[in-house]
Amino acid sequence: MNILVINAGSSSLKYQLFEIGKEEVLAKGLVERIGIEGSKLTHTAKGKEKLEITEPMSDHKQAMGYVLRALTDKQYGIIKDMDEINAVGHRVLHAAEKFSDSVVINDAVMDAIRDCIKFGPLHNPANLMGIEACRATMPNTPMVAVFDTAFHQTMPKKAYLYGLSYDAYKEHGIRRYGFHGTSHKYVASRMPALMGKDKKDLKLIICHLGNGSSLSAVDGGKCVDTSMGLTPLAGVVMGTRCGDIDPAIVPHLMKEMKLDSDQMSDYMNKKCGVLGLSGISSDFRDLSKAAAEGSERAEMALEVFAYSVKKYIGAYAAAMGGVNAIVFTAGIGENDSNMRARCCEGLEFLGVKLDGELNKIRGKEQRISAPDSRVEVWCVPTNEELMIAMDTYELCK
Ligand code: ADP
Repeated sequence: MNILVINAGSSSLKYQLFEIGKEEVLAKGLVERIGIEGSKLTHTAKGKEKLEITEPMSDHKQAMGYVLRALTDKQYGIIKDMDEINAVGHRVLHAAEKFSDSVVINDAVMDAIRDCIKFGPLHNPANLMGIEACRATMPNTPMVAVFDTAFHQTMPKKAYLYGLSYDAYKEHGIRRYGFHGTSHKYVASRMPALMGKDKKDLKLIICHLGNGSSLSAVDGGKCVDTSMGLTPLAGVVMGTRCGDIDPAIVPHLMKEMKLDSDQMSDYMNKKCGVLGLSGISSDFRDLSKAAAEGSERAEMALEVFAYSVKKYIGAYAAAMGGVNAIVFTAGIGENDSNMRARCCEGLEFLGVKLDGELNKIRGKEQRISAPDSRVEVWCVPTNEELMIAMDTYELCK
């Protein structure tokens, strides 16, 4: 069975075609600058040459047309025709409390995704455009929505309620939802096999550290807490996002810096985090290099980041009454051994002891803690696309 996975942004569309059973990527690609001058498709299929098309693509439907032509192209493609795509899985950002799992898309699901635009104003409309484009070009192919928020729906009330008025929750839906759920779910699903334990016996702290970063506490396979909130702005300090701050800062800075609410939101999302702290970059490779060359602000930004991750690890160990494994994933978590070490520094009291040699690993599933570490520490590369393909397969097989 072949599953096409779609991740649609406002001006981009990423895709991967999986053959389930072999869990193999048959083809993948990216359309950039949809609706903007310089639209471009980059496509690679297994064993074929790379294809690049630079043609005007005014909307997602037109872009989807190019994707399907690339997939079925005699020279660059991998399937004979569209009918060889058995189902499509779509990444969707926000489902609020409407879905706690992936779901087959029908008109009611489309309405539900539309209802959640207020919580995901940038992503949900783009995700909808991706779905609509696929429905228009493949009207008879089943489609599945896989939500970033779904895995976290198992959180108990004590973890998802804020200390606001209860009406803010009941009337306005203001609560912690959490994001990167597909990544947390994938990594959590790998751990029982990797550790040779039953999932019900595992308390995991998963650290998804990338441009956006979030941690989750997973007890017995279920998410019991996570660091992002109503939106992906909350939690640890990130590349350009501020993470948790004193809420009184918001009206104060709006007055001081003469910003309206959109400008303030833009500031907190795009100009803060390690970029704002360092004044150098949001990219951890740049920051590590700058710190090594003596930049105090780069060093400080890295320190603030590591400290905020470490505090969440401590909090989640307390929340679960223990921890069996800490798992690092995503761009930084999979590749940056220095940052992994910094996040674990001082956690010896909790039973965490890294193995300096094993921790040199990059982008591979491996235990990185010492054999006598009471808490295991792991590096597990995430695979959100595969998770979306597997969920889609389960619902459409
Ligand atoms: P996104 O949230 O956009 O999916 P990623 O998970 O790809 O982000 O993570 C991007 C981050 O990972 C960047 O800050 C980048 O610096 C960092 N990163 C990627 N490779 C390395 C590496 N080899 N060493 C340190 N950091 C890395």
